[in-house]
Amino acid sequence: MGAVLTVDLRRLEKAPVKVSGEIAADDPLWQGTGLELALPLRIELRAEGSATRGVWVHGSCSGGAHGSCRRCLEPLELEIAEDIGILFDPKTAEGEGDLAVYALDPDADELDLRGPLRELIVLAVPAYPLCREDCAGLCPECGANLNERACGCEVHDLDPRWGPLNELRSKVRLTRGK
Ligand SMILES: [Zn+2]
Ligand SMILES: [Zn+2]
Repeated sequence: MGAVLTVDLRRLEKAPVKVSGEIAADDPLWQGTGLELALPLRIELRAEGSATRGVWVHGSCSGGAHGSCRRCLEPLELEIAEDIGILFDPKTAEGEGDLAVYALDPDADELDLRGPLRELIVLAVPAYPLCREDCAGLCPECGANLNERACGCEVHDLDPRWGPLNELRSKVRLTRGK
């Protein structure tokens, strides 16, 4: 069942409110974030407080996203498993809060969790993942995936992050060899 991502502030006045369920992988919430979810994102949150004192929303989210290895560019699946804590503070002005602190209009009837959740979840997914810690990457000379085979080019001993530098070195070598 799709999660309802708003909190009724009048209801919250009486007791904490649970916010749980799933956000679909194709939910408009993810539009423009660059995130490609592999499965629906599951959220389990609890909201406490009030519009005048401030609202604390906390819990966890879990799911998976599609990504690609920053060295060898192979597709991979990223696990999302994150604790979430969001403070809605009536003393914070719109757009002024620190990370995970948001403005709260004391006269509002409803708290919208969509924007804050989107921001936190985008941050929770690694932007430059590796398929494995010792991924050998691509050969800067011929482009072969060095996890699969050795290609015979000369420049592999160095850290693959130095790929562009190795490329330059081999160009210099070629020029000198002439
Ligand atoms: Zn890799
Ligand atoms: Zn090569």
